[in-house]
Amino acid sequence: MTDTAVIAEDSLLYLDHVSVSFDGFRALNNLSLVLQPGEMRAIIGPNGAGKTTMMDVITGKTRPDDGDVVFDGRVDLRKLDEASIASLGIGRKFQKPTVFESQTVEDNLLLALKSPRSPWASLRHRLSGIERDRLEELLSLIRLTHRRAALAADLSHGQKQWLEIGMLLAQEPKLLLVDEPVAGMTDAETAETASLLVEINKTRSVVVVEHDMTFVRDLGVKVTVLHEGSVLAEGSLDHVSNDQRVIEVYLGR
Ligand code: ADP
Ligand code: MG
Repeated sequence: MTDTAVIAEDSLLYLDHVSVSFDGFRALNNLSLVLQPGEMRAIIGPNGAGKTTMMDVITGKTRPDDGDVVFDGRVDLRKLDEASIASLGIGRKFQKPTVFESQTVEDNLLLALKSPRSPWASLRHRLSGIERDRLEELLSLIRLTHRRAALAADLSHGQKQWLEIGMLLAQEPKLLLVDEPVAGMTDAETAETASLLVEINKTRSVVVVEHDMTFVRDLGVKVTVLHEGSVLAEGSLDHVSNDQRVIEVYLGR
């Protein structure tokens, strides 16, 4: 077995020399990234660096022209469609929250718990007690127990983002992908979101794209800096913050 195969086998997510072109423009250019099981990774980088495209490739929305994309050490994600990838346990949070505004917080979570992708779906009659416990656990985790009867429409922007994260967690993903979760949040909501993700990371892996450096610092995890579709630097936030190239293309602007 090659070294590459060994690395892929032990990883949760393995991207190797991934390239994506749109009309000749290389949005991803030989991008390689390895996420260990249980890891949380922060992805930073200037607008247009390819951060969202990377998530599109992982979730099957965009097909890479080149390279390997392997989940859980063995599943070739390039061969699967979006629905199959989601059912493998990859949950994705987009920038805009997509909760059901006319439903309560609790009903939004119940809908997610009962959706076909949920492990409870086919057992819902027998497991309603367990489902209830899971509902309480999720409400508490997303800081919305006191708002459970409120309409989602009446939540703050930050609370809507947390509700959507809760709905994704109802599907029990192994890997949660989160794209710019704190954009538009208050400072207090931003800090709370960091601690929410740290809590989520106790039981599942997370990849989070974010520009807010205070938030990234609060996460306290390894950082990957993307630039022009490739990895420019990787390491602790202090390490990448002191990298002259990172300062030039991103932090120093
Ligand atoms: P980021 O999320 O880091 O800001 P993106 O991944 O959204 O960057 O975009 C990377 C580059 O690819 C940008 O120049 C963007 O315009 C381009 N791009 C992304 N998706 C498409 C698409 N579907 N068609 C054409 N160009 C795209
Ligand atoms: Mg983006």
